[in-house]
Amino acid sequence: MKVYADNAATTKVRPEALDAYVKTSQTLFGNPSSLHSEGQRAKELLEDCRARVAAVLGADPREIYFTSGGSEADNQAILSAAKSGALKGKKKIVSTAIEHHAVLHTLEKLKKEGFEVVLLPVDGSGIVKVADAEAAIDENCCLVSVMTANNEIGTIQPVEEIGALCRAKKVPFHTDAVQAVGHLPVDVNKFGCDYLALSGHKFEGPRGVGALYCRRGAPLFNLVEGGAQERGKRAGTEDLPAIAAMTVALELAVKNLPETAKTVQTLRDFVIDGLSSIPHCALNGDRERRLAGNVSFCFEGVEGEALLLYLDDLGVCASSGSACTSGSLDPSHVLLAIGRVHDVAHGSLRLTFNENNTMEEMKYLVEAVKTVVSKVRSFSPVWRDLQTGKRQYIL
Ligand SMILES: *Cc1c(COP(=O)(O)O)cnc(C)c1O
Repeated sequence: MKVYADNAATTKVRPEALDAYVKTSQTLFGNPSSLHSEGQRAKELLEDCRARVAAVLGADPREIYFTSGGSEADNQAILSAAKSGALKGKKKIVSTAIEHHAVLHTLEKLKKEGFEVVLLPVDGSGIVKVADAEAAIDENCCLVSVMTANNEIGTIQPVEEIGALCRAKKVPFHTDAVQAVGHLPVDVNKFGCDYLALSGHKFEGPRGVGALYCRRGAPLFNLVEGGAQERGKRAGTEDLPAIAAMTVALELAVKNLPETAKTVQTLRDFVIDGLSSIPHCALNGDRERRLAGNVSFCFEGVEGEALLLYLDDLGVCASSGSACTSGSLDPSHVLLAIGRVHDVAHGSLRLTFNENNTMEEMKYLVEAVKTVVSKVRSFSPVWRDLQTGKRQYIL
């Protein structure tokens, strides 16, 4: 059996989105900036998509900027708020220890430019405390950036509360909602955010396309210069087929959201219950406040990479930590942030589902993981030391 359980890394494009991609490529191929009728018809679709994406988020169409994806949207939001803050002498940014690298690496860059970056910790369940955010925000703060939901452990952050706090203190608030849009109800006014990033390929749209919501009046500077596209804020001929496909995928994702989330959650809970019987393992992230499709575990005495390779042999596509961290030997910063020690963090497995997965797959998957964990442990020197008492179990 083949089981694709890596939907947090990327999803298969849904057929309706693919249809929109093909149809737009072939029938609306004009450049939206051209004055002729082909161009103007393309422009009409572009603005229609903008209005439809805005409607899903509770935003005004003029607040939506199409980008090349979530990373670009995160970069543009953070760098814009930082630049604007610096002009006012405010150079403090508050974020969290569990952000995606699109946020963390941008903050690293700003740190080198003299910004003070405060990364809020999370508790053992992977959730930021609102009180910590409140304590960190002061009059020097030019941005607060807290993700809506985490990509590795699926935990849902208290963004509405943090948004309210930022409004009260008049500090711009950005949320990386890439894992949330299409999977959770997302409303920019409920969130009280000034910036929000989303990405097409995390909700069965194409990759290489996303959007930045930027509240009217919030500062926005270009990352890409060269043309007047996106009201002068993002140069480059718009990838209209991708934008149209993303829009269709987004509408379909939110249309059936409560039902889909319930179905996917049933799969998730079945897998969590099934894997919990493996000795010396632990679920990463809060059991309840997590994305409907996220399962993340640490298994003691195994290497995550070995698990992945043997699972792949059994037809299961999974991940350990984030797609960006795998391939490097550093354990996931998210797992370290929830208090997993290095050895334990190395034995992590992330399984992420969506509506294309089935219960039959889950039954196969649970057995496959049990088999593979035993196998990897059987030739692990660490596991032998744990069993003989040379080392103490942590989990
Ligand atoms: C995937 C992801 C991104 C990056 O989005 P791209 O469209 O791949 O650039 C950013 N943040 C989170 C939380 C993600 O899961």
